[in-house]
Amino acid sequence: MKFKRFDVMIVGTGISGIYAALNLDPSLNILMLSKRELTLCNSALAQGGVAAVMDSKNDDYELHIKDTLIAGQYKNNLDNVKILVEQGPKDVERLVEKYGVDFDRNADGSLALTLEGGHSRRRIAHHKDTTGFEIETSLIEQVQKLTNVTVINNSVLCRLERADGTFFADVITNNVEGGERRHEYYCTSAVILATGGIGRVYDYTTNSAIATGDGIQLAYNLGAEIRNLSYIQFHPTAFADKKNRECFLISEAVRGEGAYLLNCHKERFMPRYEPERKELAPRDVVSNCIIEEQKATGSDEFWLDISHKDADFVRSRFPMIYNKVLEMGYDMTKEPIPIYPCQHYLMGGINVDGKGATNIPGLYAAGECSHTGVHGANRLASNSLLEALVFSRLIAEDINARQIDDKLGDEEYPMSSPDGKELPHGIRKEVRHIMQKAYFVHPNYDEAEKGLKRITELMDELSNGGYAITPEFVETKSVVTCAYIILKEVMDRRAEEEN
Ligand SMILES: Cc1cc2nc3c(=O)[nH]c(=O)nc-3n(C[C@H](O)[C@H](O)[C@H](O)COP(=O)(O)OP(=O)(O)OC[C@H]3O[C@@H](n4cnc5c(N)ncnc54)[C@H](O)[C@@H]3O)c2cc1C
Repeated sequence: MKFKRFDVMIVGTGISGIYAALNLDPSLNILMLSKRELTLCNSALAQGGVAAVMDSKNDDYELHIKDTLIAGQYKNNLDNVKILVEQGPKDVERLVEKYGVDFDRNADGSLALTLEGGHSRRRIAHHKDTTGFEIETSLIEQVQKLTNVTVINNSVLCRLERADGTFFADVITNNVEGGERRHEYYCTSAVILATGGIGRVYDYTTNSAIATGDGIQLAYNLGAEIRNLSYIQFHPTAFADKKNRECFLISEAVRGEGAYLLNCHKERFMPRYEPERKELAPRDVVSNCIIEEQKATGSDEFWLDISHKDADFVRSRFPMIYNKVLEMGYDMTKEPIPIYPCQHYLMGGINVDGKGATNIPGLYAAGECSHTGVHGANRLASNSLLEALVFSRLIAEDINARQIDDKLGDEEYPMSSPDGKELPHGIRKEVRHIMQKAYFVHPNYDEAEKGLKRITELMDELSNGGYAITPEFVETKSVVTCAYIILKEVMDRRAEEEN
């Protein structure tokens, strides 16, 4: 079959995908894919903001590096942390100056910087509590003006193969209005995977519905190195009403502005575990303390309380969270709101170097699906949007410096038929239950061992069962593959520790 050629294919229209497109040379012919509508992604959900040293009087690179390493338990890639921290402010400035992103400002016009857990200084640039949506929509507006970029939504990259230095892609249009599904075939010599996280591997996650780890699965099957996929962040404060476990995130910035965590007796407990950092310890520490306190009280009921702060301030600083929680029946200016930890972010992923390149020539990965090593074992709050910006720009610069042969045309390539049996229902649900039991905040090794056995069977079934290539099949295969890699890593790490 014939594959239509583009110079670069970017898979994902979150902040990392779009910022890469904006930084690529305008002479390149670029294809961008989004598997659903453009703003359905983790980027658009980001509340807190972007961390960067923007106030050089009160902050410096050394402090930001130190905070990042402490949160990451010193398992970070120091060279890449330096790139992140030292180059990040330039990208945040560009968001404002070049792309019109509107960050909150002080009366004197300077950026209003907020505080989040693990940061020793106020350094989070934000747009109220909808920072991600502000950045995402501002960048989408810019990319849609570029004549060299073709943006296609509702299109799922289902297969990616590589032969003689060319990538061949099978993309299925996911017509939401009930029309016929269509396969489109593209080829290219550079692919940027910017496909986001893996939250949908869990029952309870803050992540968007697209977060099924497709890029990681496709890269893994191409032979790319996947590293530290079991470095998963469980955010301590997702909304968790007993009747309605929505997993809507209550931003860390709420604690940054003074909220307390309370146990089932409505008693503040963090100072007992963390006398200095209290509620502003890094996320993994706070989630661990919640689990410890649960063991001590025998109850999984926890609350976040900011009702002691001025009500007008809370409403204007957190308008989206205030309204969302109010819809659920809680007025956060008057009463505590129920919270509990849930899956939130992936620190590991497709391993890349300091320019975002994988071990496969021409294959790059950016944003949450990538592993740059900047986060170590646990991400410092608001460092992920910064990582998405800095490393996607570096990928674009690397591609710009390469000589992409613009004489190459469409190609014939013998990809196998996508036809086959229909996938049975229930596999994704089964995997989510396994993961929730096997690895939530801490691994449960008995459950992880049992889970890995079952997931290995599912991997085999999906690879050899003769199923049709459809978007559902690809998402299921991605969820199963990510669960497999995570649990295998958990068990291998345990075996290493025991030896
Ligand atoms: C609720 C919430 C709050 C957060 N708050 C913050 C914060 O305040 N600060 C911070 O730094 N970070 C925050 N994060 C993390 C941060 O938002 C994400 O890590 C980051 O935005 C990821 O961007 P991305 O471009 O890598 O992926 P995403 O924005 O998730 O985009 C992924 C894209 O890939 C596409 N895609 C996936 N698979 C396929 C496929 N097979 N075919 C075609 N397209 C595909 C999707 O359609 C989507 O366009 C938050 C995350 C969540 C969930």
